[in-house]
Amino acid sequence: MELVEESPYRFRIDRHDPMRVPGVVFASRSLLPDAGADKSLDQVANVATLPGIVGASYAMPDVHWGYGFPIGGVAATDIEEGGVVSPGGVGFDISCGVRLLAADLDRAGLRPRLDALMDGLGEATPRGMGKGAVWHLTDRAELDAVLRGGSRYAVERGFGVQHDLDRCEDYGAVDDANPAQVSERAVERGARQVGSLGSGNHFLEVQVVEDVYDEAVASAFGLRAGQVCVMIHCGSRGLGHQICTDYVHEMEKVMRGYGIHVPDRQLACAPVSSHEGRAYLGAMAAAANYARANRQLLHHAARQVFHRVTGSDLDLVYDISHNLAKIETHQVDVAPRRLCVHRKGATRALPPGHADLPDDLRRVGQPVLIPGSMGTGSYVLTGVPGAPAWASTCHGAGRVQSRKQATKAVRGHDPRRELEAQDIAVRGASRRGLAEEMPAAYKDITAVVAAAEGAGLCRRVARLVPIGVVKG
Ligand code: 5GP
Ligand code: MN
Ligand code: MN
Repeated sequence: MELVEESPYRFRIDRHDPMRVPGVVFASRSLLPDAGADKSLDQVANVATLPGIVGASYAMPDVHWGYGFPIGGVAATDIEEGGVVSPGGVGFDISCGVRLLAADLDRAGLRPRLDALMDGLGEATPRGMGKGAVWHLTDRAELDAVLRGGSRYAVERGFGVQHDLDRCEDYGAVDDANPAQVSERAVERGARQVGSLGSGNHFLEVQVVEDVYDEAVASAFGLRAGQVCVMIHCGSRGLGHQICTDYVHEMEKVMRGYGIHVPDRQLACAPVSSHEGRAYLGAMAAAANYARANRQLLHHAARQVFHRVTGSDLDLVYDISHNLAKIETHQVDVAPRRLCVHRKGATRALPPGHADLPDDLRRVGQPVLIPGSMGTGSYVLTGVPGAPAWASTCHGAGRVQSRKQATKAVRGHDPRRELEAQDIAVRGASRRGLAEEMPAAYKDITAVVAAAEGAGLCRRVARLVPIGVVKG
């Protein structure tokens, strides 16, 4: 794959047939994927062939190989120009995302109670592939209410407070969910999992604000140096996975009928305005609401443990998805256009002044939550005016080792003990799960965030370090 260096943090893949637009990779030279081991830059070029794509097929600095689209990929299609939606451009864990909570507590105040807190969080957080969940839904009507109402419904039912909704993307729910487009199989898989982490890469982490780069913005977010926080990373569990599977199959069948040809079957898609496109977006929105309710319930469970053990509340800083397609209006050339913006392993990053932000954040911009790894650190960023890539940035450090490679790399080590030696308490992870997720499995988060900032995608606000992790 030929890359043209446009600037230190921006590389171009020139348009060649059948690409409709160029590829743009935001990364430093050293972060670029190794072409021998990871085909994600070929995937960037493949995405550029999708009908209706505008601007470029973008890759964030954490880009790595994914299903059809790379993880760390952003692509927008023009709805009125036959633009398509592709389930692979959202991913299997629909609306997987991050919720950051802030305690009214400093590290020193927590230290004597950290063990008790971690035990409490470990017990209160359902995780792994099993069926335990905070909320036991008994009938389809109630699950439909979750699919329609997301966090709003969870709060209505007593699992949170109004401020939680003010600080949630879309105020807790998207309006265009269509539970009728969600298969019975997806419902079956999701019903018993509302309020559960899931496996491996998902986590609930106790963190401390280690560095603040912008006091004014951090303070508007509700963050200060030394403060204890909780970061929750999870998604839509079996429900989202099944919806993605269902619609990849559906679109594979109908794609040709719409005259669509893609270089990779995993890019199965349909026009946004087609029956299948609309059905997918309705089901996807239902999964997005499910994922928000899921994080709301885990927040509620953690909040109760915090109350009991420390006396502190856990205020929501923000809740944001990093696997989603959204219909948004953006300037293309000189005209505003309705676009279907796919962000897969990429985070929306609204700049200061954006109308979709709540009043108390409008002046400073959207909090962007970037987990790094359980052994290193995580970042809080904010959006910047005039950013490329439809107001998007990275979503994490991004993998450099497959799960298998990571497991092999820790042979003869004790991952749990290594984390504990760094004063990071661990609860609830299997040895294999931990091995797959060791810091060495991921890129250097500081380098990724520096590249995202250098490319003009976002700005740093604070850095958080882990002191305890509950792993899926
Ligand atoms: P993904 O959504 O792609 O599975 O993961 C997002 C990002 O989370 C990864 O790229 C990685 O940087 C980060 N991550 C994975 N496990 C952990 C963890 O236990 N703690 C923190 N802070 N970050 C993690
Ligand atoms: Mn996920
Ligand atoms: Mn995720």
